[in-house]
Amino acid sequence: MSNSAIATEIGKRRTFAIISHPDAGKTTITEKVLLHGHKIQQAGTVKGRGSSHHAKSDWMEMEKERGISVTTSVMQFPYNECLVNLLDTPGHEDFSEDTYRTLTAVDSCLMVIDAAKGVEDRTRKLMEVTRLRDTPIVTFMNKLDRDIRDPMELLDEVESELNMMCAPISWPIGCGKSFKGVYHLHRDETILYQTGHGHTIQEVRIIKGIDNPELDDAVGSDLAAQLRDELELVQGASNEFDLELFLSGELTPVFFGTALGNFGVDHMLDGLTEWAPAPQPREADVRTIEASEEKFSGFVFKIQANMDPKHRDRIAFMRVVSGKYTQGMKMKHVRIGKTVSISDAVTFMAGDRERAEEAFAGDIIGLHNHGTIQIGDTFTQNEDLKFTGIPNFAPEMFRRIRLKDPLKQKQLLKGLVQLSEEGAVQVFRPLDSNDLIVGAVGVLQFEVVVARLKSEYNVEAIYEPINVATARWVYCNDAKKMDEFQRKCSTNLALDGGDNLTYIAPTMVNLSLSMERYPDVEFAKTREH
Ligand code: GDP
Repeated sequence: MSNSAIATEIGKRRTFAIISHPDAGKTTITEKVLLHGHKIQQAGTVKGRGSSHHAKSDWMEMEKERGISVTTSVMQFPYNECLVNLLDTPGHEDFSEDTYRTLTAVDSCLMVIDAAKGVEDRTRKLMEVTRLRDTPIVTFMNKLDRDIRDPMELLDEVESELNMMCAPISWPIGCGKSFKGVYHLHRDETILYQTGHGHTIQEVRIIKGIDNPELDDAVGSDLAAQLRDELELVQGASNEFDLELFLSGELTPVFFGTALGNFGVDHMLDGLTEWAPAPQPREADVRTIEASEEKFSGFVFKIQANMDPKHRDRIAFMRVVSGKYTQGMKMKHVRIGKTVSISDAVTFMAGDRERAEEAFAGDIIGLHNHGTIQIGDTFTQNEDLKFTGIPNFAPEMFRRIRLKDPLKQKQLLKGLVQLSEEGAVQVFRPLDSNDLIVGAVGVLQFEVVVARLKSEYNVEAIYEPINVATARWVYCNDAKKMDEFQRKCSTNLALDGGDNLTYIAPTMVNLSLSMERYPDVEFAKTREH
């Protein structure tokens, strides 16, 4: 393959993830996106995917019972001239640090908002993570077939709460029972909505021009007049789409529609494939790596255990940063300084594992991991560099973990440290006690850890409540001040799984007081590997 052919392949890629609050419609829109990408023939098939062939390991059972997907997948499909990689972000109870870290492996995000509710909590949190890299955001206002809030107010809320300008690309005509469709500002056309066609790609009626009298006939003269009035207001009060501001994460194009009715999803995909960036350069400790570089490089952002119950293996998800992967190629595992031959990487096509023969910058591949790969690891073609920007995130929930059989303390610690290397949870050991504290971002992880400790490390552990609200990694350049801080705050200090000093705060108030008291100490919410 010539260099220009590789550059063409890379230029086609759009790698994105969805951020949303639970129940805003992420699963539904994923389905519709796959429908448009011809990955599935009919919507209604994504939830519970593959569950029939899961074996009976404990936490797979848990997954089945809850009907949620612990296993995250990557879905690749062609759309327009592009090849789209959609990375699934665990959402409900399976929300975890993996959700956050997946956002460090994409080049853009789709933000789905329930237009009846507006900006919700989880979305705010996830947006904080996308801010770390100023990721471009495309917005979809969902559920227009319901009674929604005033569209102008929704845009205002995104602007003020998420600190991002909005550029509406489509504008709704009515909502709920009187939802008639959207007017596409860039195409100057009205696309009419029909109910009852959500499972398929529908034939739509299009009316060209905002002043076309056909519009009045189709939606009624009241709604047509209202649309024209609103558009005047919108054009005066909101922003025009600006590619540069979009690419720097300062402005989001906004689409209206209904995922359930499969309406507007294609407009959003058209915008996303046209404007969202091709694979972006990534920072490493020594230099910036361009996607177009000839030599292969990539980093691991997620480790998933037991994907395939037939092999009790772990899969390390790697984002390819530059060049091309081919089956059997040799790469350098930089952290351990060894060259490894990768013959059996996998890709994840809508839940099925397939052997990847080749993959390009922007793609995700899965490496079989027998314990040598950790989150944040860099793989290259013989160059010594380490990608940055794949951090740990401060947990938000904490439990003390205790053994049923106290003789197995060593096993427990080993298990916890290994599981924390996979990013499932984090483990903290207070400096002044023998407690072991497990911290997680999502509550399901606690159960997963106990189940895996039992099946993989043969230890039975239970949780007890503990009075910890949050954790921060602490640093200080001034050794004397750090010393004083450590002496005075020893009861609140702990070491994490990688022996990094952490401040464990019983309350948020306690944290802010300590931050005020020790202004020279940095209290970090994320930690680089
Ligand atoms: P997730 O939790 O974000 O993955 O949300 P789901 O896709 O599971 O959707 C949550 C609920 O909202 C489900 O009952 C969906 O059928 C419903 N839903 C999703 N999109 C729409 C929509 O456009 N209109 C309506 N009325 N309901 C929707």
